[in-house]
Amino acid sequence: MIQDIFPDKLYNQYDVNVSPSENSPVYIFKRDSLLISKEGGFRLPSYSELSEYLSENGGAKIIFLFRINEEKRFLLLPSVDGESQIFPSSSEIGENYSIQKSQVDGENKSFEASSEIAKNRSITVPQVDVKKQLSLKQSGGVGRFSYRKIFDIRMSGLCSKTELFAITTAYHLSVWYNSNRFCGRCAAPLELSKKERALVCPHCKNTVYPRINPAVIVAVTDHDRILLTKYRGRADVPFYALIAGFVEIGETLEETVQREVMEEAGLRVKNIRYYKSQPWGKASDILSGFFCDLDGSTEITMEEDELSVAEWYDRDKVIGQPDDMSLTNEMMMVFKEGKEPK
Ligand SMILES: [Zn+2]
Repeated sequence: MIQDIFPDKLYNQYDVNVSPSENSPVYIFKRDSLLISKEGGFRLPSYSELSEYLSENGGAKIIFLFRINEEKRFLLLPSVDGESQIFPSSSEIGENYSIQKSQVDGENKSFEASSEIAKNRSITVPQVDVKKQLSLKQSGGVGRFSYRKIFDIRMSGLCSKTELFAITTAYHLSVWYNSNRFCGRCAAPLELSKKERALVCPHCKNTVYPRINPAVIVAVTDHDRILLTKYRGRADVPFYALIAGFVEIGETLEETVQREVMEEAGLRVKNIRYYKSQPWGKASDILSGFFCDLDGSTEITMEEDELSVAEWYDRDKVIGQPDDMSLTNEMMMVFKEGKEPK
Protein backbone atom coordinates (compact mmCIF):
# COMPACT_ATOMS: atom_id res chain seq x y z
CA MET A 1 0.00 0.00 0.00
CA ILE A 2 1.02 3.59 -0.52
CA GLN A 3 2.04 4.04 3.11
CA ASP A 4 4.23 0.91 3.17
CA ILE A 5 7.51 2.68 2.53
CA PHE A 6 9.84 0.93 4.98
CA PRO A 7 12.80 1.46 5.48
CA ASP A 8 11.81 5.04 4.67
CA LYS A 9 9.58 6.82 7.13
CA LEU A 10 7.36 9.88 7.05
CA TYR A 11 7.60 11.80 10.31
CA ASN A 12 4.48 13.93 10.59
CA GLN A 13 5.39 15.80 13.75
CA TYR A 14 4.97 19.51 13.22
CA ASP A 15 7.55 22.00 14.43
CA VAL A 16 6.86 25.71 14.16
CA ASN A 17 10.56 26.49 14.47
CA VAL A 18 11.74 24.58 11.42
CA SER A 19 12.88 26.73 8.54
CA PRO A 20 13.94 25.62 5.07
CA SER A 21 17.52 25.20 3.96
CA GLU A 22 18.77 25.78 0.43
CA ASN A 23 18.03 22.26 -0.70
CA SER A 24 14.71 21.77 1.06
CA PRO A 25 12.10 20.41 -1.37
CA VAL A 26 8.96 22.53 -1.70
CA TYR A 27 5.55 21.24 -2.76
CA ILE A 28 3.60 23.61 -4.99
CA PHE A 29 0.14 22.46 -5.98
CA LYS A 30 -2.23 23.82 -8.56
CA ARG A 31 -5.52 22.12 -7.87
CA ASP A 32 -4.71 18.39 -8.23
CA SER A 33 -1.40 18.94 -9.98
CA LEU A 34 2.10 19.23 -8.55
CA LEU A 35 5.01 21.33 -9.80
CA ILE A 36 7.93 19.05 -10.69
CA SER A 37 11.05 19.21 -12.80
CA LYS A 38 10.73 18.66 -16.53
CA GLU A 39 14.30 17.42 -16.67
CA GLY A 40 13.28 13.81 -16.35
CA GLY A 41 12.83 11.70 -13.26
CA PHE A 42 11.10 13.18 -10.26
CA ARG A 43 12.31 16.33 -8.57
CA LEU A 44 10.56 19.04 -6.59
CA PRO A 45 11.80 22.63 -6.74
CA SER A 46 14.15 23.45 -3.88
CA TYR A 47 13.80 26.41 -1.58
CA SER A 48 16.84 28.06 -3.12
CA GLU A 49 15.24 27.86 -6.54
CA LEU A 50 12.21 29.74 -5.25
CA SER A 51 13.61 32.03 -2.64
CA GLU A 52 14.51 35.07 -4.69
CA TYR A 53 11.08 35.15 -6.14
CA LEU A 54 9.53 34.67 -2.73
CA SER A 55 11.57 37.46 -1.21
CA GLU A 56 10.63 39.93 -3.91
CA ASN A 57 6.91 39.48 -3.56
CA GLY A 58 4.29 39.48 -0.87
CA GLY A 59 1.39 37.19 -0.05
CA ALA A 60 2.44 33.54 -0.13
CA LYS A 61 4.24 31.62 2.60
CA ILE A 62 6.26 28.47 2.85
CA ILE A 63 5.40 26.22 5.76
CA PHE A 64 7.01 23.09 7.17
CA LEU A 65 5.09 19.91 6.34
CA PHE A 66 6.95 16.78 7.48
CA ARG A 67 10.20 14.89 7.26
CA ILE A 68 10.99 11.99 4.97
CA ASN A 69 13.72 10.29 6.97
CA GLU A 70 15.97 13.26 7.81
CA GLU A 71 14.88 15.52 4.96
CA LYS A 72 12.49 18.34 5.84
CA ARG A 73 9.80 19.07 3.26
CA PHE A 74 7.83 22.30 2.83
CA LEU A 75 4.65 23.59 1.21
CA LEU A 76 3.99 26.81 -0.61
CA LEU A 77 0.67 27.74 0.92
CA PRO A 78 -2.02 27.90 -1.73
CA SER A 79 -3.83 31.06 -2.64
CA VAL A 80 -7.55 31.60 -2.40
CA ASP A 81 -8.43 29.81 -5.63
CA GLY A 82 -6.41 26.70 -4.85
CA GLU A 83 -3.47 27.66 -6.98
CA SER A 84 -0.07 28.78 -5.89
CA GLN A 85 0.03 31.92 -7.92
CA ILE A 86 3.69 32.68 -7.99
CA PHE A 87 3.92 31.31 -11.49
CA PRO A 88 1.87 33.03 -14.15
CA SER A 89 0.12 31.21 -16.91
CA SER A 90 1.47 31.41 -20.41
CA SER A 91 -1.58 33.33 -21.51
CA GLU A 92 -0.83 36.04 -18.96
CA ILE A 93 2.75 36.39 -20.08
CA GLY A 94 2.85 35.72 -23.77
CA GLU A 95 4.71 32.92 -25.41
CA ASN A 96 7.74 34.98 -26.30
CA TYR A 97 8.93 35.21 -22.73
CA SER A 98 10.32 32.75 -20.26
CA ILE A 99 7.05 30.99 -19.64
CA GLN A 100 6.38 28.25 -22.11
CA LYS A 101 3.33 26.24 -22.81
CA SER A 102 3.66 22.73 -21.59
CA GLN A 103 3.73 19.93 -24.05
CA VAL A 104 1.97 17.65 -21.61
CA ASP A 105 -1.34 19.40 -21.36
CA GLY A 106 -2.84 22.79 -21.72
CA GLU A 107 -3.05 23.45 -18.00
CA ASN A 108 0.60 22.94 -17.27
CA LYS A 109 2.89 25.84 -16.72
CA SER A 110 6.61 26.09 -16.53
CA PHE A 111 8.96 28.62 -15.12
CA GLU A 112 12.54 29.40 -14.53
CA ALA A 113 13.74 30.66 -11.19
CA SER A 114 16.92 32.05 -9.81
CA SER A 115 19.06 29.98 -7.49
CA GLU A 116 19.98 32.83 -5.23
CA ILE A 117 18.94 32.39 -1.65
CA ALA A 118 16.76 34.99 -0.12
CA LYS A 119 17.75 36.51 3.15
CA ASN A 120 14.24 36.42 4.43
CA ARG A 121 12.62 33.13 5.17
CA SER A 122 9.52 32.31 3.25
CA ILE A 123 7.85 35.57 2.71
CA THR A 124 5.24 36.10 0.14
CA VAL A 125 4.16 36.55 -3.38
CA PRO A 126 0.63 36.65 -4.55
CA GLN A 127 0.45 38.89 -7.53
CA VAL A 128 2.28 37.91 -10.65
CA ASP A 129 4.58 40.55 -12.04
CA VAL A 130 5.61 40.05 -15.64
CA LYS A 131 8.69 42.25 -15.35
CA LYS A 132 9.95 40.29 -12.37
CA GLN A 133 9.38 37.07 -14.21
CA LEU A 134 11.41 38.39 -17.10
CA SER A 135 14.21 39.52 -14.84
CA LEU A 136 14.34 36.03 -13.38
CA LYS A 137 14.83 34.72 -16.87
CA GLN A 138 17.61 37.18 -17.53
CA SER A 139 19.36 36.44 -14.25
CA GLY A 140 19.86 32.85 -15.32
CA GLY A 141 17.38 30.20 -14.27
CA VAL A 142 18.48 26.83 -12.97
CA GLY A 143 15.38 24.79 -13.30
CA ARG A 144 12.45 24.21 -15.51
CA PHE A 145 9.33 22.87 -13.91
CA SER A 146 5.80 22.06 -14.91
CA TYR A 147 2.60 20.92 -13.25
CA ARG A 148 1.72 17.24 -13.54
CA LYS A 149 -1.50 15.73 -12.27
CA ILE A 150 -0.91 13.64 -9.17
CA PHE A 151 -2.81 10.75 -10.71
CA ASP A 152 -0.56 10.90 -13.79
CA ILE A 153 2.52 10.89 -11.56
CA ARG A 154 1.14 7.79 -9.85
CA MET A 155 0.20 5.98 -13.04
CA SER A 156 3.40 6.88 -14.90
CA GLY A 157 5.57 5.32 -12.23
CA LEU A 158 7.62 8.50 -12.31
CA CYS A 159 8.49 8.43 -8.62
CA SER A 160 9.01 5.94 -5.81
CA LYS A 161 6.25 4.83 -3.47
CA THR A 162 7.89 6.94 -0.76
CA GLU A 163 7.59 10.03 -2.92
CA LEU A 164 4.03 9.22 -3.91
CA PHE A 165 3.04 8.84 -0.26
CA ALA A 166 4.75 12.13 0.52
CA ILE A 167 2.91 13.82 -2.36
CA THR A 168 -0.51 12.64 -1.19
CA THR A 169 0.21 13.66 2.39
CA ALA A 170 1.41 17.08 1.26
CA TYR A 171 -1.66 17.38 -0.94
CA HIS A 172 -3.93 16.55 1.99
CA LEU A 173 -2.41 19.38 4.01
CA SER A 174 -2.45 21.74 1.04
CA VAL A 175 -6.19 21.17 0.58
CA TRP A 176 -6.76 21.72 4.27
CA TYR A 177 -4.82 24.98 4.41
CA ASN A 178 -6.57 26.19 1.29
CA SER A 179 -10.03 25.33 2.62
CA ASN A 180 -9.58 27.06 5.96
CA ARG A 181 -8.60 30.61 5.25
CA PHE A 182 -11.36 32.13 7.35
CA CYS A 183 -12.95 31.30 10.67
CA GLY A 184 -16.17 29.35 10.23
CA ARG A 185 -17.52 30.87 13.44
CA CYS A 186 -16.83 34.58 13.02
CA ALA A 187 -15.37 34.86 9.50
CA ALA A 188 -12.12 36.54 10.56
CA PRO A 189 -9.00 35.46 8.63
CA LEU A 190 -7.36 32.48 10.34
CA GLU A 191 -3.70 32.55 11.34
CA LEU A 192 -1.08 29.83 11.67
CA SER A 193 -0.80 28.54 15.21
CA LYS A 194 2.51 29.35 16.85
CA LYS A 195 2.63 26.05 18.75
CA GLU A 196 1.02 23.25 16.74
CA ARG A 197 -0.31 22.29 13.32
CA ALA A 198 -3.51 24.23 13.56
CA LEU A 199 -5.15 27.42 12.37
CA VAL A 200 -6.41 29.82 14.99
CA CYS A 201 -8.83 32.69 14.88
CA PRO A 202 -7.30 35.82 16.43
CA HIS A 203 -10.76 37.20 17.05
CA CYS A 204 -12.80 34.40 18.68
CA LYS A 205 -9.97 31.88 19.42
CA ASN A 206 -11.56 29.13 17.34
CA THR A 207 -8.92 26.49 16.58
CA VAL A 208 -9.07 24.40 13.41
CA TYR A 209 -7.09 21.16 13.08
CA PRO A 210 -6.36 19.24 9.88
CA ARG A 211 -9.50 17.51 8.73
CA ILE A 212 -9.36 13.76 8.20
CA ASN A 213 -12.46 12.08 6.82
CA PRO A 214 -13.17 8.54 8.08
CA ALA A 215 -14.33 6.09 5.45
CA VAL A 216 -14.67 2.32 5.03
CA ILE A 217 -13.59 -0.11 2.32
CA VAL A 218 -15.67 -3.28 2.38
CA ALA A 219 -14.92 -6.69 0.91
CA VAL A 220 -18.24 -8.54 0.87
CA THR A 221 -17.64 -12.25 0.42
CA ASP A 222 -19.92 -15.22 -0.20
CA HIS A 223 -17.75 -18.29 0.34
CA ASP A 224 -15.36 -18.21 -2.66
CA ARG A 225 -16.92 -15.18 -4.29
CA ILE A 226 -16.32 -11.51 -3.67
CA LEU A 227 -18.37 -8.46 -4.61
CA LEU A 228 -16.43 -6.20 -7.01
CA THR A 229 -17.59 -2.84 -8.24
CA LYS A 230 -16.69 -0.07 -10.61
CA TYR A 231 -17.45 3.58 -9.97
CA ARG A 232 -19.79 5.38 -12.31
CA GLY A 233 -18.53 8.48 -14.07
CA ARG A 234 -14.96 8.13 -12.85
CA ALA A 235 -12.82 7.92 -15.96
CA ASP A 236 -9.77 8.28 -13.75
CA VAL A 237 -10.60 5.05 -11.88
CA PRO A 238 -11.44 2.53 -14.61
CA PHE A 239 -10.45 -0.51 -12.58
CA TYR A 240 -12.32 -2.74 -10.15
CA ALA A 241 -12.92 -1.60 -6.59
CA LEU A 242 -14.79 -2.61 -3.46
CA ILE A 243 -17.79 -1.08 -1.73
CA ALA A 244 -16.69 2.15 -0.06
CA GLY A 245 -18.21 5.08 1.73
CA PHE A 246 -17.85 7.78 4.31
CA VAL A 247 -18.74 7.33 7.94
CA GLU A 248 -21.76 9.42 8.80
CA ILE A 249 -22.67 11.15 12.02
CA GLY A 250 -23.75 8.89 14.85
CA GLU A 251 -22.68 5.54 13.45
CA THR A 252 -19.90 3.08 14.23
CA LEU A 253 -17.53 1.83 11.56
CA GLU A 254 -19.39 -1.49 11.53
CA GLU A 255 -22.70 0.31 11.00
CA THR A 256 -21.14 2.23 8.12
CA VAL A 257 -20.13 -1.09 6.58
CA GLN A 258 -23.68 -2.43 6.84
CA ARG A 259 -25.28 0.75 5.53
CA GLU A 260 -22.94 1.20 2.58
CA VAL A 261 -23.29 -2.41 1.43
CA MET A 262 -27.06 -2.12 1.65
CA GLU A 263 -27.13 1.23 -0.19
CA GLU A 264 -24.73 0.29 -2.98
CA ALA A 265 -25.60 -3.38 -3.50
CA GLY A 266 -28.80 -4.10 -1.59
CA LEU A 267 -27.12 -6.86 0.44
CA ARG A 268 -27.07 -7.72 4.15
CA VAL A 269 -23.77 -8.67 5.77
CA LYS A 270 -22.53 -10.28 8.99
CA ASN A 271 -19.28 -11.30 10.67
CA ILE A 272 -17.68 -7.92 10.00
CA ARG A 273 -13.99 -8.06 10.76
CA TYR A 274 -11.32 -5.38 10.57
CA TYR A 275 -8.40 -5.80 8.20
CA LYS A 276 -6.12 -2.73 7.95
CA SER A 277 -6.28 1.04 7.55
CA GLN A 278 -4.83 3.48 5.07
CA PRO A 279 -4.30 7.24 4.99
CA TRP A 280 -5.60 8.38 1.60
CA GLY A 281 -4.48 11.97 1.32
CA LYS A 282 -5.86 12.43 -2.17
CA ALA A 283 -9.35 12.52 -0.65
CA SER A 284 -8.36 13.68 2.86
CA ASP A 285 -9.48 10.24 4.10
CA ILE A 286 -8.50 7.64 6.64
CA LEU A 287 -9.76 4.36 5.23
CA SER A 288 -10.67 1.37 7.38
CA GLY A 289 -10.83 -1.93 5.55
CA PHE A 290 -13.28 -4.66 6.55
CA PHE A 291 -14.10 -8.13 5.34
CA CYS A 292 -17.61 -9.40 5.94
CA ASP A 293 -19.82 -12.32 4.98
CA LEU A 294 -23.00 -12.16 2.97
CA ASP A 295 -26.07 -12.64 5.16
CA GLY A 296 -29.06 -13.92 3.18
CA SER A 297 -29.92 -13.24 -0.43
CA THR A 298 -27.13 -13.06 -3.03
CA GLU A 299 -29.20 -10.90 -5.34
CA ILE A 300 -27.51 -7.56 -6.00
CA THR A 301 -29.47 -4.35 -6.34
CA MET A 302 -26.89 -1.91 -7.62
CA GLU A 303 -27.02 1.76 -6.75
CA GLU A 304 -26.86 3.11 -10.27
CA ASP A 305 -26.03 6.68 -9.32
CA GLU A 306 -22.71 5.62 -7.84
CA LEU A 307 -21.75 2.37 -9.56
CA SER A 308 -21.54 1.05 -13.10
CA VAL A 309 -20.66 -2.51 -12.06
CA ALA A 310 -21.49 -4.57 -8.96
CA GLU A 311 -21.01 -8.30 -9.50
CA TRP A 312 -19.83 -11.46 -7.78
CA TYR A 313 -16.43 -12.73 -8.88
CA ASP A 314 -14.91 -16.10 -8.12
CA ARG A 315 -11.76 -16.01 -6.03
CA ASP A 316 -9.46 -16.94 -8.90
CA LYS A 317 -11.10 -14.47 -11.29
CA VAL A 318 -10.36 -11.38 -9.21
CA ILE A 319 -8.64 -8.68 -11.26
CA GLY A 320 -6.36 -6.36 -9.31
CA GLN A 321 -5.61 -2.71 -9.86
CA PRO A 322 -2.63 -1.58 -11.97
CA ASP A 323 -0.46 -0.80 -8.95
CA ASP A 324 -0.19 -1.84 -5.32
CA MET A 325 -0.98 1.54 -3.78
CA SER A 326 -4.48 1.06 -2.46
CA LEU A 327 -5.95 -0.80 0.48
CA THR A 328 -8.70 -1.86 -1.92
CA ASN A 329 -6.22 -3.63 -4.16
CA GLU A 330 -4.49 -5.34 -1.24
CA MET A 331 -7.82 -6.62 0.07
CA MET A 332 -8.77 -7.98 -3.36
CA MET A 333 -5.40 -9.72 -3.70
CA VAL A 334 -5.56 -11.11 -0.16
CA PHE A 335 -8.94 -12.65 -1.01
CA LYS A 336 -7.65 -14.01 -4.30
CA GLU A 337 -4.89 -15.81 -2.38
CA GLY A 338 -7.32 -17.10 0.25
CA LYS A 339 -5.56 -15.18 3.01
CA GLU A 340 -8.36 -12.92 4.23
CA PRO A 341 -9.11 -12.90 7.98
CA LYS A 342 -11.72 -15.57 8.70
ZN1 LIG B 1 -13.37 33.36 14.77
